[in-house]
Amino acid sequence: MRFLLISTLLFIISCNKKENEIQQPQKIPFAIVIHGGAGYISKENMPLEKQKKYKIVLEKALNKGYEIIENGGTAIDAVQNTLMILEDSPLFNAGRGAVYNNQGKNKMDASIMDGKTLNAGAVAGVSNIKNPIQLARLVMDSTKHVLLAGKGAEIFAEQQQLKFENDAYFYTKRQHEYLLKVQKREREIKLQKSISKTDINNSNIQIHTLENSKYGTVGAVALDKAGNIAAATSTGGLTNKKYGRIGDSPIIGAGTYANNKTCGVSCTGTGEYFIRTLAAHEVSNLIQYKKRSAKEAIKEVIHTQINNLGGKGGIIILDKQGNIAWDFNTKGMFRAYKKSTGKNKIAFFEMDTVKLK
Ligand code: ASP
Repeated sequence: MRFLLISTLLFIISCNKKENEIQQPQKIPFAIVIHGGAGYISKENMPLEKQKKYKIVLEKALNKGYEIIENGGTAIDAVQNTLMILEDSPLFNAGRGAVYNNQGKNKMDASIMDGKTLNAGAVAGVSNIKNPIQLARLVMDSTKHVLLAGKGAEIFAEQQQLKFENDAYFYTKRQHEYLLKVQKREREIKLQKSISKTDINNSNIQIHTLENSKYGTVGAVALDKAGNIAAATSTGGLTNKKYGRIGDSPIIGAGTYANNKTCGVSCTGTGEYFIRTLAAHEVSNLIQYKKRSAKEAIKEVIHTQINNLGGKGGIIILDKQGNIAWDFNTKGMFRAYKKSTGKNKIAFFEMDTVKLK
């Protein structure tokens, strides 16, 4: 009898202990990583003053996203709000600072993906929308579609009462001068009799690749306290783009991908190559099926798959364990991260040797 009483008491104590253990808040790591485009970014061609300007905006955007997840918000809200800050800055090739197409217009692309539900939204070739990433989010949340393009997407934006801005808002001297430079170079190429018609049609891509001096697409990946991952990318595309060209940024699986089972990814660079390799999804597959680490997966995609085709650019990744990595085959990439472990970093130039754990 006495034995029975003691064992019942012990059982009750152990149950209480377990309950207490469950009630203890679990410490889930959370983090955010962002990029502001890859390209010919080097200390020599970027004066200190200019570096400071980029740093201020990148930090502001990073902190915004971090604050959201720190306060218990969702990864999807974090990446959207982070990108809205970068889109509002004239420094990046997204939103306000978007590059010009062949006709001197800003045609913007953006996408967003929720790794918990695999829901996604994207817009392509839109003009005068202040925050294309906000529109992409609305496509995800308020339609049964994934990708809306051109006029139709703009009508949807009107219906959703999104903010529009006039052309003057999107004017940046830097991007306009770059368009004139690329178009001048294109005319010079056309004059060279040895260039075939196909080459001329592709010259926009060639110039971009060869000179490789433009950058500024923006992207973010976040992991929130609930363990959900989200990724987003926004861009003006390539300078002097023609024929309604769309790059990888609004293509789910190419420029953006998120899956709670693996990771979140945002890409930047010559989009055609990221589409052909389905770069962002490929990274996720390498993790899921080939058991690669985040770092190994992006290294393989950027330095082998993209590089072998002749593509240029960079990738950021945040996996389900909170590991962050970035890699690029250009001279530099604007990039930053912040983790709940207290670690954070902001970098522009050559790849770091620092371990991003
Ligand atoms: N990936 C973008 C595009 O091809 C451009 C960039 O990231 O710089 O449209």
